[in-house]
Amino acid sequence: MRHTKIIATIGPASGQPATLDNLIAAGVDIVRLNFSHGTQSDHAAKFHMVREAAKRARRHVAILQDLSGPKIRIGVLAGGRAIHLERGDALVVAIGDETGGPGRVYTDYAELALRVVKGDRLLIDDGKIELEVESASTGEIHTRVIEGGELGEHKGINAPRVPLRSEITEKDRRDLEFGLALGVDLVALSFVQAAEDITRARTLMREAGRPKVPIIAKLERPEAIDHLDEILDATDAVMVARGDLGLEIPLERVPRVQKEILRKAHARSVPAIVATQVLESMRTEPRPTRAEASDAAGAVDGGADAIMLSGETATGRYPVRSVEVLDAIIRDAESMGAWAPPADNQPNVDHTRALSEAAVTLARRSGAHAIVAVTREGQTARLLSATRPQAIILAATDSEEVARRLNLWRGVIPMVCDLHGDMEDVITRVVDGAVKRSRAPDNATLVFVNTATDLDRGGSNFVRIRRV
Ligand code: PGA
Ligand code: MN
Repeated sequence: MRHTKIIATIGPASGQPATLDNLIAAGVDIVRLNFSHGTQSDHAAKFHMVREAAKRARRHVAILQDLSGPKIRIGVLAGGRAIHLERGDALVVAIGDETGGPGRVYTDYAELALRVVKGDRLLIDDGKIELEVESASTGEIHTRVIEGGELGEHKGINAPRVPLRSEITEKDRRDLEFGLALGVDLVALSFVQAAEDITRARTLMREAGRPKVPIIAKLERPEAIDHLDEILDATDAVMVARGDLGLEIPLERVPRVQKEILRKAHARSVPAIVATQVLESMRTEPRPTRAEASDAAGAVDGGADAIMLSGETATGRYPVRSVEVLDAIIRDAESMGAWAPPADNQPNVDHTRALSEAAVTLARRSGAHAIVAVTREGQTARLLSATRPQAIILAATDSEEVARRLNLWRGVIPMVCDLHGDMEDVITRVVDGAVKRSRAPDNATLVFVNTATDLDRGGSNFVRIRRV
């Protein structure tokens, strides 16, 4: 079974019931709804479609809401027509929400004009268009085109030296409320710059009555790398968002930053997602490049919990095939042996951690087929995942919601079981589901583990091994 999870972004190429069925069959664990595009009602329709498809497949597929964040954007253009830019052209980027056209475009972020200085670069539309600042005043920036092209309305602007708004945007606030009410399982915050971005979202979640929805901090700003430690302490998970990151910091630094993020995230048991351009060429081609295959396998070796597909599944020609190819690459990379964290033999760790480690050791030394975490809130399964066992972790929970969100953790296969009553009865009940879900052969052994912070409670905090 595959340990590293697959996230697929849904878009025009994949938002149909039949395609969703095929994506889930191909191994998608988490579906991403990208709120930078589309309306709330589009997303609601896709949300329900994914839930229906998951039900048909009898899988606990999670739905990830990805909020736009405070990205700087070009405003509307006259007639919605793109403007053509040639190297050497002059272009004014003015502050305001008026309609732009040839020679003059607008953005509503006033700070941009205050912060840029002569010689700065503005990167537009994922870096396809590049402008050099010649002068800037309060209301407008005079630029020269370095790299030309067709500039469409609403395209994003990356200005690495310019700090973004630090409050949550009105759009994100509305989208978050909408998503939480709809029932999304995970929320990603774009362009996180500091730990407060996460605590602020957490407060909104608490107010919305859904405080436990995991937050994924997307690391794609220089500030996020500068504040990596405090962000890791505040967040539930991180994403190496290489698309914007590769524009916001020098491209050649991205591989090293990715490694550093994976290492530091793992040291704190924070799950990490590697994202963007993973199988980029499969947007138009039926096969990835060798370099792409190597990169995806490298993310597995580096200990990523999940790998995300974006344009490949949202707008590409081969959405299902992209997932099949990624699944095959991951499986092969994992067959070399899962990445293991450095051994931690420090005494006096929390008993929940010590118990999880004992379960992993027992499973490895006895050749157990799988480890079964009996876990209401998912904590035992998350602890096990952090130790990166070779065996798969079956997370038996009595909550559909917990089951879905556990999809983000490496090696964790969620299942829903009735956990009421005596622990002996619970285990007997769980065995059936676990055998089926892990395709356990006859006479296989399973390790069962449960951890709870309360050491005085009977029936919890156990490790046991059993033949099935
Ligand atoms: P995006 O985030 O696809 O929402 O921009 C990922 C990235 O920037 O890599
Ligand atoms: Mn991004």
